[in-house]
Amino acid sequence: MSEEKKLTTAAGIPYYYNEDTMSAGPRGPLLLQDFILHEKMAHFNRERIPERVVHAKGSAAFGTFIVTHDITRFTKAKIFSEVGKQTRTLLRFSTVGGEKGSADTERDPRGFALKFYTEDGNWDLVGNNTPIFFIKDPKKFGDFIHTQKRDPYTNCKSPTMMWDFWSLNPESLHQVMFLMSDRGTPYGYRHMHGFGSHTFSLINAQGERVWVKFHFKTAQGIKNFTNDQAVEMKGKDPDFAQRDLLEAIDRKEFPKWNLKIQVMTLEEAKTHKYNPFDLTKVWPHKDFPLMDVGVLELNENPQNYFAQVEQAAFAPAHVINGIDYSPDKMLQGRILSYPDAHRHRLGPNYEQIPVNKCPYAVNNYQRDGMMRVDGNGGGSPNYFPNSFDHIKPDESYKNVPPPAGGNHELGWYDRNADTENDHYSQPGNFYRQVLGENDKKTLVKNISGAMSGISGPKKDEIINRQLCHFFRADIGLGMAVATALGINPEKAMPAQHAEMGAQV
Ligand code: NDP
Repeated sequence: MSEEKKLTTAAGIPYYYNEDTMSAGPRGPLLLQDFILHEKMAHFNRERIPERVVHAKGSAAFGTFIVTHDITRFTKAKIFSEVGKQTRTLLRFSTVGGEKGSADTERDPRGFALKFYTEDGNWDLVGNNTPIFFIKDPKKFGDFIHTQKRDPYTNCKSPTMMWDFWSLNPESLHQVMFLMSDRGTPYGYRHMHGFGSHTFSLINAQGERVWVKFHFKTAQGIKNFTNDQAVEMKGKDPDFAQRDLLEAIDRKEFPKWNLKIQVMTLEEAKTHKYNPFDLTKVWPHKDFPLMDVGVLELNENPQNYFAQVEQAAFAPAHVINGIDYSPDKMLQGRILSYPDAHRHRLGPNYEQIPVNKCPYAVNNYQRDGMMRVDGNGGGSPNYFPNSFDHIKPDESYKNVPPPAGGNHELGWYDRNADTENDHYSQPGNFYRQVLGENDKKTLVKNISGAMSGISGPKKDEIINRQLCHFFRADIGLGMAVATALGINPEKAMPAQHAEMGAQV
């Protein structure tokens, strides 16, 4: 039998009356001096912290990453230092647009946020289940997310806002097409891929840099809900993905993902036909084949959701020695915005919360602040340099500078170039080459279903503008969506395609 414990206040004071409050006589009003009532009510009132403004609904599990293939020719990151090496991880999945109580089977990308607790500090790879994203410049992010949330007047989700934004931002087309395929409604979190999404750098022991993309391929196989099944599951079990992940791990059916990378040299980047740092584009596999790296297995459920999932904080800024950023503008924006969001949501000392804390040495001169609960450096010096402690910056961790003279060529000090506005080739390839006949039909059905929710005075304008994008990606796609919407495709087709379209 487990040892009996005394009930105490938060200050550890044992007490007896936990269910009835002291009052002026058995039937009289309550007495202010019953401090335990205040403590219980006041703490309850403060149980919620701000929910994540995006990716609010999520599930997570701890696991192990094991290196299976040597990539030390590309990176000196200690996590990849030898085949067989194991690193503890935390993986949080999420939907993007919905609130904390929203349904897991919404049509939405899924977050795929990984924390690797490495001996060189925590590396966070914070991606999605898609290798691309809707926008390629972080200045658009807040506007875009507003369209995925609630209309300020109706307080309802609005297909009109969504398609208005997408139709005015053709760079979103690629991701919109992924989203409208059945991969937009994955069967829980175990049966989907994960991607680092951005281009990062790998740096080897000689200080040589290559560009890299990270792909986590599900070992469970891809499995999706159809649109109808996803809608039905919203009502039946809005927490489907949470339950599915938790129960699989409880049954010891540990889900696995195979980590693969694509590598591009600095020289290749200069001549590649697409901007390799554009988050709306993929790197074609035939040009940049996938290389095996390791296996990620989730094998431990969190014991407490709030402590270990709600308080988990991931930041793409957190890269470790041997891994570095790229000029991907979305990545650059997220380097700022993620730690900023955590400071707002969890406080400036969020990295000391146990789930976020590096299990290895942390030595610096950051002190004080809200919720500093770890001893705050004790009596050790709180300034640098000093004559008392032995903390020294280690020269072997000097940053390797980005490509010499290459910054301007790569566009670091410029804005998006008009010459890089091919928004249609890759979505067209996706439609023609990747989707089978049934997938194409499903895509068109899902698109027309979603677009049929567009309403209001701008309805026709938004629909026509979006149809033009589908036509530009593929004439057959434009014709099929127009037809499914009950619109004469010949009338909807942009002028430059009309002649060709007549031959289709
Ligand atoms: P490939 O034929 O080598 O790759 C096609 C990829 O598409 C595979 O990774 C496949 O994933 C994935 N896929 C299949 N169905 C869907 C879907 N409904 N939604 C999202 N992805 C899907 O060709 P390329 O590398 O030349 O790329 C061609 C097009 O494929 C791209 O323009 C892009 O639209 C899409 N794509 C490319 C990826 C890349 O990194 N190169 C990654 C994902 C999509 P699976 O592993 O399940 O077979």
